[in-house]
Amino acid sequence: MIASAPATATAVELAGELGLPRELVAWNLKRFRRAGGWYCVLKLPPCTECGEPVVGPPKQITHLACVPAREARWVRVKRQQLKATLSPEALAERRDWEREGCKRYYHGLPPERQAVLFAKWHATGQRDYEITREVARQPPRPLDGR
Ligand SMILES: [Zn+2]
Repeated sequence: MIASAPATATAVELAGELGLPRELVAWNLKRFRRAGGWYCVLKLPPCTECGEPVVGPPKQITHLACVPAREARWVRVKRQQLKATLSPEALAERRDWEREGCKRYYHGLPPERQAVLFAKWHATGQRDYEITREVARQPPRPLDGR
């Protein structure tokens, strides 16, 4: 209403029509008239993962498609922090604890889901095996990178 007010409208008239404080209406009316109409600042923050601009709600700073990558990064960072701060014994203890948790989770799943997960891990293992074989066939490179 304030933004679409005719150029002849005064803050007092508009405040009366809107039932709002005159100072507030006057401040906004002045803002709109100085800016030449309705405006808002357009911000396109870079995505936290891919760096491309994010178009969406103001608080969205990651593309929806990049959310899994962000979560994976958080896990990596958390793991690096643990590796840097925990003793080797505490790390081994934590690994054992995580492995037990995975085993409990896996054995609690229905057989169909277990089969799906197993097939997925098998496919990943096969893929990694082929990559490893391909790298192993390459002639050795010097360790210092020359
Ligand atoms: Zn992204």
